[in-house]
Amino acid sequence: MKIQFLGAAREVTGSKHLITVHSDKGVITPKGVRKHDIRILLDCGMYQGKGMETDLANRELGFEARDIDYVILSHAHIDHSGLIPYIYRKGFRGNVICTPATRDLCAIMLQDTAYIQAQDVRWYNKKMDRLHQPKIEPLYDINQAEQAMHLFITIDYDRPYRLCDEVELLLTNSGHMLGSAVVNLRIDENGETKRIAYTGDLGRKQSHILCSPQPFPQCDYLICESTYGNRLHDDNLVSEEELCGIVEDTCVYKKGKLLIPSFSVGRTQEIVYVLNKLYNDGRLPKIKVYVDSPLSVNATHIFRMYTEALNEDVQDTMRFDDDPFGFNTLRYITDINQSKALNNSDEPCIIISASGMLEAGRIKHHVANHISDPNCTILIVGYCTPQSLGARIQEPKRQWVSIFGYDHKIKAQITKLEGFSGHGDYREMIDYISGCQQVEGIRRVFLVHGEESSQDEYKDHLYEAGFRGIEIPQKGEEVVL
Ligand SMILES: [Zn+2]
Repeated sequence: MKIQFLGAAREVTGSKHLITVHSDKGVITPKGVRKHDIRILLDCGMYQGKGMETDLANRELGFEARDIDYVILSHAHIDHSGLIPYIYRKGFRGNVICTPATRDLCAIMLQDTAYIQAQDVRWYNKKMDRLHQPKIEPLYDINQAEQAMHLFITIDYDRPYRLCDEVELLLTNSGHMLGSAVVNLRIDENGETKRIAYTGDLGRKQSHILCSPQPFPQCDYLICESTYGNRLHDDNLVSEEELCGIVEDTCVYKKGKLLIPSFSVGRTQEIVYVLNKLYNDGRLPKIKVYVDSPLSVNATHIFRMYTEALNEDVQDTMRFDDDPFGFNTLRYITDINQSKALNNSDEPCIIISASGMLEAGRIKHHVANHISDPNCTILIVGYCTPQSLGARIQEPKRQWVSIFGYDHKIKAQITKLEGFSGHGDYREMIDYISGCQQVEGIRRVFLVHGEESSQDEYKDHLYEAGFRGIEIPQKGEEVVL
């Protein structure tokens, strides 16, 4: 058996890890051919970053799409799922296996990604046309995103599922977003059983809406995320208090707008839930709150369908409030003209909109329009890759920033709240893993999904906690287990 790390290797996006298992009996492919090398792709994520810079990395998969038998999807975030329609386009016809909530979220998120690509490519090709350079095609279109959904098979948490004679799969709740899972594989090869656990992204011990990450069976090999391998977060209660303080300061005292760039799926619902809670407690000032993102609106519908999968706090709230993602002063906006109208209004308000790293979407327009207003606040609530606009506006000495080709003076207050992170910090991750694993029983640990500085530090923390055989694979690196 071997694993090849094809993405999110010493970086945070593009998660793709290819496991190849030898099967004596083999499996029959959709074309009726028996094959003995079974190829299982853990996640099929898109590289995300600045504009078209990641386009080439996304096109070079590092494998033949038609050779893949299974894609096991840890969760629906695009950096883990975004290339599924692309490999479909390239000939992949195997099964994509994930939880039901992940499937439902993918159905809206992959189409949204196809739509964004179409816009980006149109803009890029116009520029190339002017420069007499070759044009490009999007990675996939909306039809391909739709067709790829037919390959999905869903299984619930904690229900073992046999892929073939040699491989059994179990998905356990990783607490990172609705439907997210740790992928547990039990592989029998040459008379030996090898147990692999792939964390996907790991959530926090205490989330506002999600259950904490659940124990997973003992593994021999661990592929572990490391986004916050060098950081500790504030606790969640503090972030609720702080959010309340920021709303009062910006919208009541300064009468400005509070802009919250947020991932449409997961983070947005968490923030809305906390605002809903503050509203129920009578602590939210009487100002309008807008969720300005069509994808967020659709994703919130899916969260409402799966409220039984959310944590006890949500269940308690629902005993007296049947919609934990809605309150009187909250408006969900899909119409582009209503979105534009927000820019012309002087009324203090909260605008929650995508994307979380400020790389695209309606929030970029809101930020461009308000970043030079000292009464406004831009509140960063999630991880931003170093080169993203979200990260650039946070640089302490930066005074100007370019958005849509125009320079803007930064006068708005830029604030960060870490308590809303969807990723556990290193202490939470180590406590969680040590809590369900015999650490000395894990033979090798592969760190993925982290910036190098974070991974180096995480490796030291893991070593101190008794983990051994810790490796940080390079992109393309292959290990034989
Ligand atoms: Zn994620």
